[in-house]
Amino acid sequence: MSGYDAETKMAYLYALRSKGVTDSRTLTAMERVDRGLFVRGLFAERAYEDMPLPISCGQTISQPSVVGLMTQALDVQPRDKVLEVGTGSGYQAAVLAQLARRVYTVDRYKRLVREAQAVFDQLDLGNITAFAADGSFGLPDQAPFDRILVTAAAEDPPGPLLAQLRVGGIMVVPVGQSDAVQSLIKVTRLESGFDYHELRPVRFVPLLEGLGQE
Ligand code: SAH
Repeated sequence: MSGYDAETKMAYLYALRSKGVTDSRTLTAMERVDRGLFVRGLFAERAYEDMPLPISCGQTISQPSVVGLMTQALDVQPRDKVLEVGTGSGYQAAVLAQLARRVYTVDRYKRLVREAQAVFDQLDLGNITAFAADGSFGLPDQAPFDRILVTAAAEDPPGPLLAQLRVGGIMVVPVGQSDAVQSLIKVTRLESGFDYHELRPVRFVPLLEGLGQE
């Protein structure tokens, strides 16, 4: 294990830049969060490579360059209240927490939320609120949100999430009819209606209904 030393950080950031993550606030946020803390077991030693890796409950921690591209597309501002659907390992939420005032993150697996919360506590990330819920309904009690990031693929951007986006707000969501073909979409809420912009092809686990078993 190399650990998150200066050399590892430099290589990590270099790989992000070479994949198109160029926004300096995003790069600084990602440099600050040690991805190695969010990957356990067999795959821990690969935490600094630009690849998705397995986590508990049969889910995956996203590829770092995809985390970077989604974060920069979300254009988070310091006073923003952000909702992330799909906590997974918690890595993406920890990156968002560097940029936003407050991050709400939900996952359908209690176990993932518990494990992610332990790392948030370790990093003293008090501006993250994590809990188990079906995120396709959003969080009506906390709405509206300035930014919404969905890290599981839906057939269409879920209606409740569109409704919980503030006017002027941005949502980034992978959309696709199948596992194989998905596009990352940036949705901006206008005074009247929504503007949709296709960013790039991606591959995410599906957004599923209800709570998971674990
Ligand atoms: N953002 C994560 C990666 C997410 S993987 C990270 O940084 O590690 C996608 C996650 O979405 C999985 O953990 C899965 O359980 C969760 N998910 C799928 N459908 C969901 C739903 N309806 N509500 C909440 N979480 C959901």
